[in-house]
Amino acid sequence: MKPVIALVGRPNVGKSTLFNRLTKSRDAIVADFAGLTRDRHYGEGRLGPHAFIAIDTGGFEPECKSGIFKEMAKQTRQAVAEADAVIFVVDARNGLSAQDHDIAKFLRTANKKVLLVANKAEGMQTAPQLAEFYELGLGEPMPVSAAHGQGMRDMIDLALEDFIDPDADEDETPAEDRPIRLTVAGRPNVGKSTLINTWLGEERLVAFDMPGTTRDAISVPFERNGQKFELIDTAGLRRKGKVFEAIEKFSVVKTLQAISDANVVLLLVDATQGVTEQDAHIAGFVLESGRAVVIAVNKWDAIDSYQREMLQRSIEHRLAFLKFAPVLYISAIKRQGLGPVWKAIADAHASANRKMPTPVLTRLLGEAVQFQQPKRAGAFRPKLRYAHQGGMNPPVIIIHGNSLEHVTDVYKRFLESRFREHFKLTGTPLRIEMKSSQ
Ligand code: GDP
Ligand code: GDP
Repeated sequence: MKPVIALVGRPNVGKSTLFNRLTKSRDAIVADFAGLTRDRHYGEGRLGPHAFIAIDTGGFEPECKSGIFKEMAKQTRQAVAEADAVIFVVDARNGLSAQDHDIAKFLRTANKKVLLVANKAEGMQTAPQLAEFYELGLGEPMPVSAAHGQGMRDMIDLALEDFIDPDADEDETPAEDRPIRLTVAGRPNVGKSTLINTWLGEERLVAFDMPGTTRDAISVPFERNGQKFELIDTAGLRRKGKVFEAIEKFSVVKTLQAISDANVVLLLVDATQGVTEQDAHIAGFVLESGRAVVIAVNKWDAIDSYQREMLQRSIEHRLAFLKFAPVLYISAIKRQGLGPVWKAIADAHASANRKMPTPVLTRLLGEAVQFQQPKRAGAFRPKLRYAHQGGMNPPVIIIHGNSLEHVTDVYKRFLESRFREHFKLTGTPLRIEMKSSQ
């Protein structure tokens, strides 16, 4: 599971700036998050070898007992409770404030690893200005500049030093023999536990032991039609004896951890509720995490044909940014439509791990350019020379050539659709990166 870092501090110290720097989306293709608000507070971050989940809290005003500030303080407390490590941000330029003391007091009792970070320290000769922050009793303040990206790597190294799993990535099992790690995600009440219990009750599904793992506390391995799966049970769910049930309090962090820990995410939407804001948020995170995803609209039995038509349109519209994901209509209670879900999951997983040989990619690129040239930009016409695969899961295609910075998003989408069609990629994002040689 990825460690969780909460960013805490009074307003204006630079938490959002820091959050954006840590979680900046590396997605080359889908720039517009239609239907998604931008003020997301949870994000997936990666810095050097560390992958983590960051929570940006609105701010902390412990003195205010009412209204929005009280709500902010509550959110901060909750974020700290959910986090493995806390980055406490203070303002190196404005110095120490009473609020900083209040927050420090709270953090000293929170029993969490706290890293004190003095932001806006670019161009400062450090020591003198930062000395006063020792008063907070949280050790040495670490100078950083979120705006200029200074000190980020050291900060994350320190924040996460106790949470790095040295055994990670040491799994020698070849990818195709490893189980597909599956997360069933969705808002409370969409039917996650019903679906999983229906699945686990099927006799075609065989539980198996995974040798050498300690994961069984948090996941359920099983096999279906010869394919091994591992169901991650923290997406708002817990095992209780033989059945799954929703945990009382919906935890966004747990959901996000389960998403980023998965190979494939099955995103459930409630047909009787339509696509809500929260669905879109979860979907947005799935997109950002680069995971393969299948969307299943549950409770299809409970709505009439007119409602079905409206819902199909609303999904196209509100989840447009996940249009690579297949959408299936199911009833967990009536056990309808479940077979195709398994197939879609297996296809998505295979797509995410597809090998795309350089000669094939380069030939496809040549054919695409012949069919339609990229637009000229002033004196330049981008020259797309060759392509190779830069990664898997999600697949990344790197295109080499000249003046590639002038390639439009529309043209990238055109290329994406050609590649997708040829390699039959469904249910996985595909990233296309341009590398100009001049
Ligand atoms: P938040 O309220 O804690 O989320 O703070 P914001 O991220 O909104 O930042 C508050 C202000 O500080 C903005 O005007 C930022 O541009 C500025 N800021 C953030 N980080 C830095 C930094 O590293 N150096 C400087 N000089 N300004 C920064
Ligand atoms: P969770 O919170 O996502 O785990 O949701 P649950 O599995 O607890 O389901 C919430 C409610 O939706 C329960 O009352 C279920 O009986 C109901 N439900 C689940 N699946 C279906 C379905 O396919 N059709 C209908 N009509 N109701 C369902």
